[in-house]
Amino acid sequence: MSDPQVSIDLARIEHNARTVVDLCRHSGITPFGVTKGTCGMPQVARAMLRGGVAGIAESRFENIRRLRDAGIDCPIMLLRSPPLTRVEELVRSVDISLQSELQLMREISRVAERLGRVHDVILMIDLGDLREGIWPNDLVSTVEEVLTLPGVRIAGVGTNLTCFGAIVPTQDNLTQLVSHAYKVECILGRPLDWVSGGNSSSLPLLLAGGMPAGINNLRIGEAILQGGRDTFLTEPWQALDRDAFELTGELLEVKIKPSMPIGQSGIDAFGNVPVFVDEGDRLRGIANIGREDVIAEGLIPTRPGVRVLGASSDHLVLDLTDADPPLKVGENVSFRMNYGAMLTVMTSEYVEKVPMLDVRETGEGRAYAITADAVGGALMVVQGVAERIEHLGFVHREDEQAVSLSICGHRRDLLPHVEAAGQLHDALGVIWIDSDAAMMPDSDDTAPPADNATLRRMLTRLPPHVAPENIVLIGLRNAAPEEVAALKATRMRVFPMSEIDAVGLRQAMRDAIAIASAGTRGFHLCYSPTATDMSGWSGGIGGITVRETHSAMEMAALSGKLRSLSISGIDAALPSPIVAECANFILSAFGKTIL
Ligand SMILES: *Cc1c(COP(=O)(O)O)cnc(C)c1O
Repeated sequence: MSDPQVSIDLARIEHNARTVVDLCRHSGITPFGVTKGTCGMPQVARAMLRGGVAGIAESRFENIRRLRDAGIDCPIMLLRSPPLTRVEELVRSVDISLQSELQLMREISRVAERLGRVHDVILMIDLGDLREGIWPNDLVSTVEEVLTLPGVRIAGVGTNLTCFGAIVPTQDNLTQLVSHAYKVECILGRPLDWVSGGNSSSLPLLLAGGMPAGINNLRIGEAILQGGRDTFLTEPWQALDRDAFELTGELLEVKIKPSMPIGQSGIDAFGNVPVFVDEGDRLRGIANIGREDVIAEGLIPTRPGVRVLGASSDHLVLDLTDADPPLKVGENVSFRMNYGAMLTVMTSEYVEKVPMLDVRETGEGRAYAITADAVGGALMVVQGVAERIEHLGFVHREDEQAVSLSICGHRRDLLPHVEAAGQLHDALGVIWIDSDAAMMPDSDDTAPPADNATLRRMLTRLPPHVAPENIVLIGLRNAAPEEVAALKATRMRVFPMSEIDAVGLRQAMRDAIAIASAGTRGFHLCYSPTATDMSGWSGGIGGITVRETHSAMEMAALSGKLRSLSISGIDAALPSPIVAECANFILSAFGKTIL
């Protein structure tokens, strides 16, 4: 491992979301999930939505754009006022926002009117925490003013507590919110959609049965992401899982050193005067994580006996004396984090973000399955593909654990296999190694698509469990202008040959596997022989080399995430040496290596 990594367990996030949603339902509350702690990671938003939240709430436009670009079309709430320059983006991309300033709402109304829309707002009321909010004395006059703005609709009232002033939500202050809501409803002459009673810090009151009737929304981030580590400090809510995030770094140095620095002391790299306790000689370790990545004080080592002593910009100093089991140079150390530490990790460029669902093991005794049409089947028999796969330790068995191989005459024949794999594996990525974009416009979508429209058809009819942000196209070298335009409009990552020339196939494939595996249960690999330049065959001229193709297949096998594999273009017209090479590629994808 080179860089520090944070792994994000989407199944735990989904579980927490479901737990919170179920609790809220009993009190007539519909929660929104807050993704700002993960920079609006689409996989995290999807996990929350699977858990049942009614919408996603975010604090930043960059994050909202990331969610929308990923095709997430649920209601999105902006958790703060936009800067004046971004009011148009607000009106266009956000369904509802929290507001407390008339001047801004005037501008929102003006822009919304111009765009022919009406923007929903939740008026925030300050109940004493002294962050955002209208002062209760000004509420009536503010509502009357907003009523004169045609582009803004008051959809609700809300409050935010435990943020700046650390004022906790109580039956008393939230009852005040309900009575303010009632006042506003009287002025409007209609019920409000939302009475939004705060963030995760309102959950203890809800659990204790003290939530006043009339509150019908909460905006929950921390409790879903971190299981309430910071919310339920003294009495954990056991139903929540606190371990969705784990930060891992590598030990760069492990040495016995005294616990008191030697020499004249001044100030440290951050202007502080450090204080040390003399514990004698201790075994100390340095990990490749620093203050640029994390608030070190919020780290909780997962290994018993490990203590965090402090950090500089990019070194984390640990006491490893009592580590059980002991730790050596080059080994990994892992940490849980409080919310502040998690936020910094998620915003650090230097920390790799690894969303994941469960990961299954590869190896001996794995099952495989093959499907092919008559011609492809016969060609695979000639090449002895099944026997050679079994020779690698696979057994033929058609169950959901099996790596399934499909041999297709045409690109378009891939589609049912991708679809079946998507359904089988719940959440799946796709890596497509091909020379052609196959994105030509496709007029008749009731018939099977033309070969050169296959990918476009796949994208327009994505199985529900394949998300565009998990699809990668590798090896592109032919694309008509209309295909280029269509590709740019998709959210797919494309590695054209020019980029492979620049970064190398291994790097491209490494990125592709990370993208296709991010938050999925693995990926389906589609391969067209035209991607590869094979001697004496005009079909692949200008493509990746035979060795590079093997390398890509071996990497797919090593990743342990390859669920299924389709090879297209295998028909009677394909010269037999090329068919033989394709059979070798298949073997590499099943983990065959030279040694
Ligand atoms: C961040 C934020 C939330 C979510 O807070 P958590 O403690 O993560 O649940 C809710 N409302 C507003 C206005 C926020 O800024």
